[in-house]
Amino acid sequence: MTTQPNTASLTDSISAHDLVLRQRRFFRTGQTKSVAYRIEALKRLRQGIEEYQPRILAALRADLNKSEAEGYSSEIRLVLGELDYTLANLEQWAAPRVVPTSEQIAGGASAIHPEPYGVALVIAPWNYPFQLAFSPLVGAISAGNCAVLKPSELTPSVSKLSADLIRACFPDEYVAVMEGEVETSTELLREKFDYIFFTGSTPVGKVVMRAAAEHLTPTTLELGGKSPAIVHKDANLQRAAQSLVRGKFLNAGQTCVAPDYLLVHADVQEELLREIKLEIEDKYGADVTQNPDFPHIVNDRNFDRLSRFLNDGEALLGGRTVREQRLIEPTLLQGIDWNSPVMQDEIFGPILPVMTYTELDPVLEQIVDRPKPLALYLFTRDQEVQDLVLNTVSFGGGCVNETLLHMSSHELPFGGVGASGMGSYHGRQSFETFSHHKSMLVRSV
Ligand code: NAD
Repeated sequence: MTTQPNTASLTDSISAHDLVLRQRRFFRTGQTKSVAYRIEALKRLRQGIEEYQPRILAALRADLNKSEAEGYSSEIRLVLGELDYTLANLEQWAAPRVVPTSEQIAGGASAIHPEPYGVALVIAPWNYPFQLAFSPLVGAISAGNCAVLKPSELTPSVSKLSADLIRACFPDEYVAVMEGEVETSTELLREKFDYIFFTGSTPVGKVVMRAAAEHLTPTTLELGGKSPAIVHKDANLQRAAQSLVRGKFLNAGQTCVAPDYLLVHADVQEELLREIKLEIEDKYGADVTQNPDFPHIVNDRNFDRLSRFLNDGEALLGGRTVREQRLIEPTLLQGIDWNSPVMQDEIFGPILPVMTYTELDPVLEQIVDRPKPLALYLFTRDQEVQDLVLNTVSFGGGCVNETLLHMSSHELPFGGVGASGMGSYHGRQSFETFSHHKSMLVRSV
């Protein structure tokens, strides 16, 4: 089968209201409730992604200057992984789960039946514009929903490509893409969806939740925040440096789970920073402005916002910018404290503020005083320190002696807590997120 664009598509002209109506009508035919239908749809999507792979990579290069290697490993590969894992397990996940019945209900049998919510809305951000649109979509389809996907307008090439790819795979009444700016999101959010899955900033998350409250629509919010990295005095510094550089500068720091700032024990600060410098040079070259594969900042507004942070403290490394390309060098900032402007909001760029500590407790208090982070990364071999941090700080998820990798495990539900989000997905959790769990007691008569 070759996936061909369906030129009869209506989503270019149809209103959000009519699109949701069409999807609701289709949902009521019951076709998507068949697990075989969902499996066929997921296979079609997989094939479509494979066929569109060169276009996906070109769009990621056009919008963010992502190299093919980075585009494949951090976007396409993760979606294909979700698809394969879901295809291998869906029949088992979708089956009713028989559970024990309380003794006082004699003659009863109990089971939990996962069922699709109905019509789902997926709103995606620009930073991993392919992965963060299509991974949730895998969950929505696997659970048997119809879905409308709203990609980010800030990555127009990926937005257009997503619309073409979905159109080539599915009829609008089943899965559709609605491209557009904030007005399109607003128009969609006025409609009554049965589930909303939003990935983006905390302020817009509040807008989405207010709109969802109007219809009492259950919602997952995958938001951002300032994720700390803590390097304790006993850490393996070379490993920590490698992992921090990979985690912070992937996609030029425009990663929701990037370490936002670094807290390093004073005893090892000098050596760690030396290792980080070596690692940056090794990975990106001594002059990153000459590296054709270092991703660019998404737009001028973010470039200007990030450039202002470079006046904070002093740049221990990097600090140069190239406005025409919206390129900012990997930068380490020293002379920062908790009140510095760069420490007030999520940075979302290749700038790493560094602060030192001698006692861990006051540092943990500072973190706990702030909104709950999406991620936390701790580098130490000391089990007591690991236990202390894990038991003291609430955060979405994280790693010890690593960065980012918790979000690529199918077995670990991924999501935030408090200001960094609510709900989670990936692997089985995506299926569960997009399913209602209908509890049934059947009594023999
Ligand atoms: P954003 O909140 O500005 O936009 C996200 C989506 O919402 C876009 O599709 C946009 O069109 C839409 N939108 C924007 N303003 C809107 C409004 N007023 N009403 C309705 N819809 C609106 O976020 P962004 O700039 O695209 O992404 C960056 C943010 O996303 C960062 O905070 C980052 O941490 C977060 N993020 C979180 C995750 C996660 O998995 N937790 C992943 C990636 C990004």
